[in-house]
Amino acid sequence: SSRVPWDYSSFSTSAVKAVKETPALKAKNYVGGKFVESQSTEHIDVLNPATQEVVSRVPLTTHEEFETAVAVAKEAYKTWRKTPVTARQRVMLKLQELIRRDMDKLAMSVTLEQGKTLADARGDVFRGLEVVEQACGMANQQMGEFVENVSSGIDTYSIRQPLGVCAGICPFNFPAMIPLWMFPMAVTTGNTFVLKPSEKDPGAAMLLAELATEAGLPPGVLNIVHGTYDVVNQICDHPDIKAVSFVGSDVAGMHIYSRASATGKRVQCNMGAKNHAVIMPDADPEATLNALVGAAFGAAGQRCMAISTAVFVGDSKRWEEGLRERGVKLKVTGGTEPGADLGPVISKQSKERICRLVESGAKAGARIVLDGRGIKVPGYEQGNFVGPTILADVTEDMECYKEEIFGPVLLCMEAASLQDAIEIVNRNKYGNGTAIFTKSGAAARAFQHEVDAGQVGINVPIPVPLPFFSFTGSRGSFAGDLNFYGKAGVHFFTQIKTVTSQWKEKDLHGVAMAFPTSG
Ligand code: NAD
Repeated sequence: SSRVPWDYSSFSTSAVKAVKETPALKAKNYVGGKFVESQSTEHIDVLNPATQEVVSRVPLTTHEEFETAVAVAKEAYKTWRKTPVTARQRVMLKLQELIRRDMDKLAMSVTLEQGKTLADARGDVFRGLEVVEQACGMANQQMGEFVENVSSGIDTYSIRQPLGVCAGICPFNFPAMIPLWMFPMAVTTGNTFVLKPSEKDPGAAMLLAELATEAGLPPGVLNIVHGTYDVVNQICDHPDIKAVSFVGSDVAGMHIYSRASATGKRVQCNMGAKNHAVIMPDADPEATLNALVGAAFGAAGQRCMAISTAVFVGDSKRWEEGLRERGVKLKVTGGTEPGADLGPVISKQSKERICRLVESGAKAGARIVLDGRGIKVPGYEQGNFVGPTILADVTEDMECYKEEIFGPVLLCMEAASLQDAIEIVNRNKYGNGTAIFTKSGAAARAFQHEVDAGQVGINVPIPVPLPFFSFTGSRGSFAGDLNFYGKAGVHFFTQIKTVTSQWKEKDLHGVAMAFPTSG
């Protein structure tokens, strides 16, 4: 059933109706521009994390259906690669308009399936929309290079051509943004695409596919298949898939990286994180506390760029009360409720895991400053809610520090100096993002230079770069060498062909046997 028991008064009723009635939410395969019912006998229920109600059902796309999707994408590539880049851009220009038109509907789908608040869900859609906007200028980004007269009468130029069929494998936490990190870059550079959304929340990807069709993307250029590791392994192994884009956990990411690259594919994997904020004693108290609370507890901590660890240079105690005060004030409830600050976490298993890691921290000597584990949310008794939780006196040997928690839990640590704090950040296996809060330019400059993380915020808590830059997580948070979107994203989805040409009326040199030089 897609019945939803709560009151949508804070939200446009037409959007709610549209989401409930849209055929795309029945999670069909999307192949050759059509939504096709899977013949699979196995399905996974998509549960609303706030209520446990079944929102939709995801089929496990069969082997034959997957093969068809790739074959259709391969066929579509023949004409799509020849379609002028200006025409491909124009599809993106239309797509961005349609995403804006359907922003509410997309956001509602995200909230129903993923749980985050509607305001946050709009952010999820918007940050993906910006990649579509960036793709509207692809001709400039895909431009090649030209050197005249590399030798007498000879010119060399390089062009960036698409790869062929590419694939994307998505996580649950940004059901709109992450598909939009992938397919707009891939198809506007001339590739065709097979997308596998997260089996936990495929709705937004399905709605986006519908919009892409409406925007004029020809049939077969974007296809969607469903399932879990079985279909993922088929993506890794398929000889006609040339590149794989993955975002998700370390276990899946490293498996996909090795299995897909073993068959000669390009692979980019964005994986887990433990993002540290370093707080200098001179940091502005109000702005820093607000930034920490928003970045630690927003989206119930289920952001790969969430701040999950605060390293206070000097004494952490003087900051704890301010964090606690702000944390208790946050409204934890269903994501469609007016004024909701954070919604539930994705699943019962995820809640259990978060609570277990908090407990292990407490057992190992961490001090619980705020405990959100026992929270009861009226009207949502079945929801997977965890309230804001703060642990202090955390040390590097604790399991809660070593593992990615992926919940609304902020760990507080102390460091004797900026240098010590930087060493803590650099010893951690992850390198996704980090931030420093300070009034000192010298401290910020030293931090920026020394810290070993791919994305650095200076008085900015979640420095996710806009799409004219790239998402540049590093070390344990990334496998591959070409990052998502921006210039690196264009390079990931294109290969360079270098042409050396000579045009002359007649040959003056005869047979040349020595290796040619320009000297
Ligand atoms: P996940 O790894 O469980 O799932 C991601 C995708 O991989 C899904 O499509 C799933 O079907 C597939 N998958 C899962 N296990 C697999 C296996 N064993 N073999 C093959 N495929 C498998 O991740 P998730 O729980 O959906 O997402 C949360 C994780 O994603 C967190 O670790 C988070 O940090 C990370 N993440 C990272 C970024 C980033 O940019 N670095 C962004 C968002 C999320």
